[in-house]
Amino acid sequence: MLIDNHHRTINYLRLAVTDRCNLRCNYCMPSEGIQFAKKEQLLTTEELCRVSALMVAEGIDKIRITGGEPFVRKDLMVLLRFLAGLKDLKDISITTNATLIGPYIEELKELGVTNVNVSLDAIDRENFKRITRRDQYDLVFQNLKLLIDKGFNVRVNCIVLDGQNTEEIIPMLQLAKDYPVSVRFLEEMPFNGGSKSFNSIRWDHHKILDTISSVYPEYDKLESPATSTSVNYKIKGHKGSFGIIPSFSRTFCGSCNRLRITAKGDVITCLYGKPKANIRDLIRGDNSAEAVTKAVRQAIGKRAKTGFEAQENFDGVFENSMTSIGG
Ligand code: SAM
Ligand code: SF4
Repeated sequence: MLIDNHHRTINYLRLAVTDRCNLRCNYCMPSEGIQFAKKEQLLTTEELCRVSALMVAEGIDKIRITGGEPFVRKDLMVLLRFLAGLKDLKDISITTNATLIGPYIEELKELGVTNVNVSLDAIDRENFKRITRRDQYDLVFQNLKLLIDKGFNVRVNCIVLDGQNTEEIIPMLQLAKDYPVSVRFLEEMPFNGGSKSFNSIRWDHHKILDTISSVYPEYDKLESPATSTSVNYKIKGHKGSFGIIPSFSRTFCGSCNRLRITAKGDVITCLYGKPKANIRDLIRGDNSAEAVTKAVRQAIGKRAKTGFEAQENFDGVFENSMTSIGG
């Protein structure tokens, strides 16, 4: 069992399998991309499998595959097939931009993957193209509908971007009206692969909820697990629900159960902190199982209590991109 220095049990691993992506969302990375890792710097599929098995042996029972875009990695299904065979792993989830998932949807269902988060920041075609800097709208919607039809638990994640898509908050809720999906609005975070720094945001969770209530005054707050990062609601008559994730305001740190391992093997114990260890050389060395487990346990034993505490090391300027961290 992984328990941090604040008595929080860590049972959820977010595993980034690549830092590469076929889109260039403007809040995530610059148009020219970032300095992507070289192939030898990335964990191999075999190493990702071994690290996952070690973490499951330590009590991780949920793994979310993220990136970069996970499906850019050609051997992703090899990892997913391995994860599906881990008896104590209860939940395999994926976060994707839904451009490349289409051919794999049937097999994902067979493997027992249940939760798929689709990042979608615009329902308007031109706005989608402007934000992602790629013309992939039709493909994304086709795959989104396929995922819903096949019965996946689909959550649509929309980052609320001041001056870019705030007029889409209400139209986006049409998805929750028509389909059994959860549309979740996220506060933007200053991780865009540049050197963004801001101490406040205009579109925080209060403003997002006020905007929704002005059009849909009748909604119920839903019960959510203590470890949930979203506060969830249901509008009367809608098939699905909506949620708000205060990623910037960070009101959820107290019950955080997450550990992040990046495609380069960095161990991140808080989204707002610097990596606390790297396990790539350890998994490639002697006594790799003991070495990796020890390094992760040590990192978890020195975990910041909140994102604000973790952020102190950053001097307020974030040079990292979410494509390396995995969200
Ligand atoms: N490519 C996949 C996708 O977009 O879903 C997975 C990786 S992406 C980095 C994971 C999540 O991070 C996405 O939901 C994305 O919207 C979110 N993200 C990226 N940059 C962000 C930022 N600056 N603020 C808040 N969320 C961000
Ligand atoms: Fe790619 Fe996801 Fe970043 Fe968009 S948010 S550029 S899809 S990694």
